[in-house]
Amino acid sequence: MIRRIAAPLSLLAAALATSPAAFAQEKVLNLYSARHYSTDEALYSNFTKATGIKINRVDADDAGILARLKSEGSASPADVVLLVDAARLWRAEVDGLFQPVKSKVLDERIPATLRSKDEGQGPQWFGFSTRARVVVYNKTAVKKDDVDTYEELGDPKNKGKVCTRSGSHPYNVSLFGAMMEHLGPQKTEQWLKGVVDNMARAPKGGDTDQIKAVASGECGIAITNTYYLARLMRSSSPDDRAVIEKVGVVFPNQQSWGTHVNIAGGAVARNAPNREAAVKFLEYLASNDAQNYFANGNNEWPVVKGLRLSNPALEAMGDFKTETIPVSVVGMNQVKVQQMLDRVGYK
Ligand code: FE
Repeated sequence: MIRRIAAPLSLLAAALATSPAAFAQEKVLNLYSARHYSTDEALYSNFTKATGIKINRVDADDAGILARLKSEGSASPADVVLLVDAARLWRAEVDGLFQPVKSKVLDERIPATLRSKDEGQGPQWFGFSTRARVVVYNKTAVKKDDVDTYEELGDPKNKGKVCTRSGSHPYNVSLFGAMMEHLGPQKTEQWLKGVVDNMARAPKGGDTDQIKAVASGECGIAITNTYYLARLMRSSSPDDRAVIEKVGVVFPNQQSWGTHVNIAGGAVARNAPNREAAVKFLEYLASNDAQNYFANGNNEWPVVKGLRLSNPALEAMGDFKTETIPVSVVGMNQVKVQQMLDRVGYK
């Protein structure tokens, strides 16, 4: 059974501090999650069914969870932390909010490029699903050939057409961090300047807003995570269907390094009171069944190889070549990327 924590965390922390034995017998796991998908309910209740470990869940967005972990410090009741985006996972690792995990199951099932660097005691975080950052374009205003690489978003031929959400949003910071890995810092900064010069409007809104602005013709070209597209593709609303009719989708850089992919992932919290249960939960997330719930719940791809999703929107997007650089490197580049964004005026 899933029980949402209604009481303030300070009370929970106090309870844990005063009666550790009672809690140990009860077998609980305190989960801080930035995910809020209805299919995750089954994910959690299946874990409880299989292990008898009850999950206490705290839902907040990534920034909220990180702030909470920091303010709680060593008194934090958090056992497992689920975040979206490699840049945020990397930041939390650097801020000392996680602890390394040595697990044969996780080592075998999670590809090495989709987890943090192992400094000897095991990785600090693991990706459990992937999303691609793709280009969408207005089919009547833009030719696919003009937008099938990320580099072309900064090419003068696309002047006045490009729309994105804020440059410093983690999804973009991770994409730009990947570009820095592929192109080197100098060319990446030139490219970012080109993207800013090509903008149809100042960055605003989320990825779905960019897709809609491409459909309406306000923008010719935009960048989005695949699950926002999949959500529109699977929507029964006629307005959403009309949007999808008007936009083309490109998985960029198929002829070179491949399309940028990011992760949603998890980690064991630095001061996890229930460490054993926490590791068990991460291993559970790498199981075949959990992988399907975890990825499919947000129209993402599982990280474990050889699993097939039955998701019509993802199937319609087809197979594609992904970049192979480690996501940890992408996170690591974010400080330099932010400096570049400030210099080129990418708000
Ligand atoms: Fe998102």
